Amino acid sequence: MPRLIGRPAPQVTSGHYYRVVPDCLFCGIASGQIPATIVLEGKRVIAFRDIDPQAPTHVLVIPRDHFPNVGELAAAGDGLLAELVGTAREIAVTEGIDDTGYRLVFNTGQDGGQTVGHVHAHLLGGRPMTWPPG
Ligand code: 5GP
Ligand code: ZN
Repeated sequence: MPRLIGRPAPQVTSGHYYRVVPDCLFCGIASGQIPATIVLEGKRVIAFRDIDPQAPTHVLVIPRDHFPNVGELAAAGDGLLAELVGTAREIAVTEGIDDTGYRLVFNTGQDGGQTVGHVHAHLLGGRPMTWPPG
């Protein structure tokens, strides 16, 4: 079971990473080299608060290993995508938004609005969301 914590990422972490891309922002956060407000650290998955939150709860959930987008993550198999989504669900419970609802978003590619090329689920909640998205 992943461990829930509420402190900035440590500057040095142990653990092994199979797929680390140099200069990838989220690889840097996953390894602890770039600080972030971590909300959950698992062996394969980590979650941290978005630096520019768009809702009262805005958490990014990522695999420690680098995959460019959700399609590549799905293709990799190994249950990692399911673990990512399950982790988001767990955080929704912790954040108290599981009853009121939330949005889980994987922006993918240029038209999808993806700006960081390390797959991440946006967990957004704590306010009503509109549809369609912009
Ligand atoms: P995307 O646009 O790729 O779907 O989402 C990238 C997200 O990463 C954005 O919501 C953006 O605010 C967030 N972000 C960008 N740089 C940082 C950072 O250095 N730290 C954190 N915690 N979030 C970041
Ligand atoms: Zn990466």
